[in-house]
Amino acid sequence: MRFNTRLIHERQPADPATGAVNPPIYLSSTFRQSAPNVHSGYVYSRSGNPTRAVLEAALAAVEGGRTGLAFSSGLGALATLLEGFPSGARIVAGDDLYGGTWRLFEHHRRQFGVRIDYVDMTDLGRLRASLASKADLVYLESPTNPLLKVLDLRRVARLGKGAGALVVVDNTFATPALQRPIELGADLVLHSTTKYLGGHSDIIGGALVVREEKEAERFAWLQNAVGAVPSPFDCFLVLRGLHTLGVRMRAHGESARAVAEVLEGHPKVKKVHYPGLASHPQHALARRQMEGYGGIVSVDLAGGRRAVLRFLKGLEIFTLAESLGGVESLVDHPATMTHASVPKAEREAHGVTDGLVRLSCGIEDPSDLADDVRTALRGV
Ligand SMILES: *Cc1c(COP(=O)(O)O)cnc(C)c1O
Repeated sequence: MRFNTRLIHERQPADPATGAVNPPIYLSSTFRQSAPNVHSGYVYSRSGNPTRAVLEAALAAVEGGRTGLAFSSGLGALATLLEGFPSGARIVAGDDLYGGTWRLFEHHRRQFGVRIDYVDMTDLGRLRASLASKADLVYLESPTNPLLKVLDLRRVARLGKGAGALVVVDNTFATPALQRPIELGADLVLHSTTKYLGGHSDIIGGALVVREEKEAERFAWLQNAVGAVPSPFDCFLVLRGLHTLGVRMRAHGESARAVAEVLEGHPKVKKVHYPGLASHPQHALARRQMEGYGGIVSVDLAGGRRAVLRFLKGLEIFTLAESLGGVESLVDHPATMTHASVPKAEREAHGVTDGLVRLSCGIEDPSDLADDVRTALRGV
């Protein structure tokens, strides 16, 4: 089966009891046992729930891993993952990450004696040098949030595994419709299913997909022990989102291209970040590695924060809000919103300036989105 067919059918049989083509939402916290520890396979819904099980199997299938694990948020998935890296562990992370990921690393994990080093992984020489010291976890996003840097997943995975580390890719921006890190050598994929997988800005959720049995058992154990699990209803919504992921990602890509083309070369724009533009420094890599360039475009406005405020005021279709990946277009000012927990000096040093705006291009008509951005720029 090809990918768009697999999204809808792989490991999603009709309900065996009724033939329902969608899984029932099993709103039950617990399950009857006929004698102590004699049961149907389900005991307690933190440990496992039949609706969640369908979602987890589907996620594993579309990412090409052995096991899928669903969580109550992307950060819930990350926090659970990090429980597997106790005091003394060393994490080598990409230098452009979701702000909440950075906050969890810096303001929480570090105080438990975990060492974390950030590396610009577009420079493989630098990554190789960093991996000369012991590393337990290599953690990265591609494309990165919010600067849309594209990392060579196959080579990063090879270097990470060569150093004996577990390689984990946050695949939230690309989704498995555009890129499957496990097929390129990663050990685990992490998702904020809040974003494209859910796709409709109506739930908060997360996931891990694990390649090997050994790690799958370890992280499934942690999922139950830590308990950051999603409700069955939220699992149902993510599964419903997954079914349309293929068509949505194609539409998001068309919108983003239309918007990026308006921005590129515009006199009020300092720089556009979109991997689909030939001018993007990793465009050739993105073309090889991805099956499309995604729906996020970041733009550095020439006039800094003042220009940003005028631009935001001028937008009518793009809604100012955190988050991304829904059918509706959203706009974010990373410096004061999603990445406000990163200190200014650190932010600016790697390009998250006060003039940077992140656009999550939805699936409205691409021409309307392009017009919206064009009009807003006129007011800057
Ligand atoms: C939103 C996001 C997260 C965090 O996920 P939540 O569901 O908000 O907890 C992690 N990584 C990336 C790339 C994100 O965009």
